Amino acid sequence: MNTSNIIGQSPLIASMERILASGRIVHAYLFTGPAGAGKKTMSSLFAQALLCTNIEDKPCYTCRTCRQFASGNHPDVFWVRRQEDKTAIVVDQIRDLQAAIKVKTYQAGKRICFIENAHLLTQQAQNALLKTLEEPPPDTLFLLLAENTSALLPTILSRCQVFRIGSLSGEDIIEILSSRLSVKKEDAAVIAALSQGNPGKALALAEDETFQSCRKILIEGLSQAGSVRILDLYGVFADNRDRVEDLFNILQLWIRDLLIFKETGKWKLIINLDQTALLRMQVSHFTSAALKDMIEKVEESRTMLKRNSNYQITIENMLLSFQGGA
Ligand SMILES: [Zn+2]
Repeated sequence: MNTSNIIGQSPLIASMERILASGRIVHAYLFTGPAGAGKKTMSSLFAQALLCTNIEDKPCYTCRTCRQFASGNHPDVFWVRRQEDKTAIVVDQIRDLQAAIKVKTYQAGKRICFIENAHLLTQQAQNALLKTLEEPPPDTLFLLLAENTSALLPTILSRCQVFRIGSLSGEDIIEILSSRLSVKKEDAAVIAALSQGNPGKALALAEDETFQSCRKILIEGLSQAGSVRILDLYGVFADNRDRVEDLFNILQLWIRDLLIFKETGKWKLIINLDQTALLRMQVSHFTSAALKDMIEKVEESRTMLKRNSNYQITIENMLLSFQGGA
């Protein structure tokens, strides 16, 4: 398989290669992983490797079918997606697909039906799909993409071979950021750590100016730890309530760096390398014990919010608990 466009995912690629080499292709594959993990990238790679007319090193990205696939104009490739005004994929969409694949394939080779966000299929839509999975038309393959399997009927799951999309290593994420968006290495390392191995999230964070400015305000604001002025930071939390997890992650990663630098003095262990001056300045402001308490307090607040504690009180208590002035 030609994987020159793919970074990481080697175990998954190895199992796809085994399947392609054996020629034992089943009718349905399910790609699962969180949003941004690479389900579409990996399922498209698999589909293109099946469709490509090149003799080896598929997909070649240059033959007619590869170009048709890339432009979204391959007559034997179908995409079922949630419609913008709906919250689920409804049965009519599956019926439309079933009608469309009754005819013979247009080109020699396989027909591929992608079902994006398959976890959003209604029960009725799943039951309709099940009939087709049980008796699929010739040369037809279903690629289901789902963030989780819990919403899918066991009877659907049992018809699918599952590909799990794992997290990428920090190095892979840094490579993706520097090759796709030319992000500087020290910035990429911070984003990689905050993306937790999710390439889609890393790419989104790198281009997200709000996120960058939140990070700057939060880490600079920690210089006010131990003073009530630290409550000014609540503004960032109030304005970005929908992404409070990212804010907690920013804080934890920064406090971790302060602690590691305080205990070891080694820059090579530090992730926030774009902020060395600030880190050097703040490290004398805290004791190691205070930094450890702060990491715990952030984690505790994260848990409390999940249990629906009052947002403002939880955040303000966390900020006030940060003890500076060592
Ligand atoms: Zn090709």
